[in-house]
Amino acid sequence: MRWALVGASTIAAEHVIGALRAAGEDVALVQSSTVARASEFAKAQGIAGYATDLGAILSDEGIGAVYISSTNEKHHAQALAAIAAGKHVLCEKPLAMTVAEASEMVAAAKARGLVFATNHHLRCSGSHRAVRGLIASGQIGRVLSLRLFHAVHLPGHLQGWRIDNPGAGGGVIPDITVHDADVARFLLGEDPVSVVAEMVSSGMGQGVEDSVMSVWTMPSGAMVMAHESFTHPFAGSGLEVHGTEGSIFATGVMTQRPVGEIVLMGDKGREVVPYPTHNLYAQAVTDFLSAVAGKGRPAADGRDGVASLAVALAVRTAARTGVRQAVDYGVAA
Ligand code: NDP
Repeated sequence: MRWALVGASTIAAEHVIGALRAAGEDVALVQSSTVARASEFAKAQGIAGYATDLGAILSDEGIGAVYISSTNEKHHAQALAAIAAGKHVLCEKPLAMTVAEASEMVAAAKARGLVFATNHHLRCSGSHRAVRGLIASGQIGRVLSLRLFHAVHLPGHLQGWRIDNPGAGGGVIPDITVHDADVARFLLGEDPVSVVAEMVSSGMGQGVEDSVMSVWTMPSGAMVMAHESFTHPFAGSGLEVHGTEGSIFATGVMTQRPVGEIVLMGDKGREVVPYPTHNLYAQAVTDFLSAVAGKGRPAADGRDGVASLAVALAVRTAARTGVRQAVDYGVAA
């Protein structure tokens, strides 16, 4: 299939263009808001065509799908335009600035019979899929709690709009908490009901939060705690799932690369659990293409993107108000 990139972004350059090409896809066009960036990006990435006008890109009938990786406030209008033009959409997280906008995008794609996916890469990793399998197969009994450790140090080249532009969707909550919401939903197979939270700016965020801790109530009664930050150079990342019959310790797995270690602890002692180490973004593309071929569903579909955004926004409201927030999932798309 021929693809158009909407947004000349770091994530496209560092991960997604390679994943598309590895799957044999043709990255044909890139759209960016200035001619200079569009042409530079196209040249650097070996992309044949570029434009600033989204309409011109979308009017190309040979384009089957678009990958949207602009700043967050642009996703909504760009996705609606792509869907109106009949293109399948792989959209970056967070899908939009509000649950209502995100739901509108997903509903529009559904109405046109188009595939719409959210690029929540962590559920594409062999490690997260292995942890999910351990839980689902009853290896740790009934889940009591999930702890998500995702306090990292935002690399210098990403310290732009994320740390100082709330209008573009900056802040650690739309950036990382939204991923952790997807991880919790993926691993436990249920959606948080309500959240409590605290957030701060601890040295990097200017007008947006750069660190947040929250606790989520799950329908099953399992407790979830999540910690996300842009300012922790040496904290490491990972997750722990504790159950009545065992515990899973997955260290170093909240990452874009297929790394980290999974250890299962139980009555029989300590066991290192092997897992597949495929490229996370390649897996996302593979699952997307299967969905387009009518042979499956995307790794994270539109509903996953809406629900994970809803949790993240509830965390931010809870942190702002100091009041427990019921998660508002809006109208299910
Ligand atoms: P970038 O800042 O690299 O790019 C985002 C947009 O910013 C570009 O589309 C471009 O807009 C504009 N831009 C890029 N470079 C410049 C520049 N030098 N000067 C001015 N504007 C510039 O963003 P990221 O790649 O980090 O993130 C893009 C999206 O992807 C976000 O929604 C983010 O949440 C998501 N993301 C997802 C990840 C995942 O693993 N799923 C990981 C990282 C990001 P335009 O082309 O319109 O001119």
